[in-house]
Amino acid sequence: MSTTGFGRFAPSPSGDLHLGNLRTALLAWLFARSTGRGFLLRVEDLDRVRAGSQERQLADLAALGLEWDPPVVRQSERLPLYERAIARLTAAGRTYECFCTRREIQQAVTAPHGPMGAYPGTCRDLTESEREQKRAAGRPAALRLRSDVTDFEITDQLMGSYRGAVDDLVLRRGDGIPAYNLAVVVDDADQHIDQVVRGDDLLPSTPRQAYLATLLDLPIPTYAHVPLVLNPDGQRLAKRDGAVTLHDRIELGETPRQVFTALSASLGYPEATSTSQLLAQFRPENLPHQPWTLDPNGLLQPSAYP
Ligand code: GLU
Repeated sequence: MSTTGFGRFAPSPSGDLHLGNLRTALLAWLFARSTGRGFLLRVEDLDRVRAGSQERQLADLAALGLEWDPPVVRQSERLPLYERAIARLTAAGRTYECFCTRREIQQAVTAPHGPMGAYPGTCRDLTESEREQKRAAGRPAALRLRSDVTDFEITDQLMGSYRGAVDDLVLRRGDGIPAYNLAVVVDDADQHIDQVVRGDDLLPSTPRQAYLATLLDLPIPTYAHVPLVLNPDGQRLAKRDGAVTLHDRIELGETPRQVFTALSASLGYPEATSTSQLLAQFRPENLPHQPWTLDPNGLLQPSAYP
């Protein structure tokens, strides 16, 4: 099969990956490899970096049998790329400085016709002298997109069509760091990533990202947002739920292979004991649409999963 483009997994190195992250990574790998795509890892380290965590994340993925195409890129090494995209939007009159604090944004009433929770546009139409005053008062400015839509529709391979809010999203934060939504769009296009598989908690951000891609004349990738892993209370699995990382599972006496088998069983493939077996059997259309509920304090017995 020829390589048509790339899929990817883009973890934030803020701690060890938990079973939900590992399952999403496995799915991203499966979607990419089963469609003849390359598979890239991108370390999203513009925020919340914990020392040593990217090395551990990569080691855990490798221990589960995932392989990827080099090089691993790090967003912190790609700042000029994001600045070029910001400059392009600015040259097109598509950006403005925003001096609002988080608290001010929370307190402001959302514009009557705007999407729920959207930025109310407080700084959108400041005059140049108002901006001067705010700058002089020492308020660090974020840079926002001047959006001309309030929503945008995307197509998701698992969820179908999804229309969601687009507001004047932040492109560069007040601390000068490019915002996630901008970086992800620029990176996916720059890395020839034409397939985005990730947790469905990011579905609401996707219309913003797809719209931003159109403004930058970049192609919109195909999307597949996969269900998250839940704890027995029905909440998104988190570190505090117990033995949720590969390291934790190994401490309980499980092997990476057993963890792999449990993940594979949760996708509907209890027989697969290796990535190549799983790849041979994988059919995206047969994926469970329900979240995987996991008791992290029990053993990962494949028989416990549908
Ligand atoms: N870095 C993001 C996260 O770990 C994922 C971004 C993405 O897949 O687009 O939540």
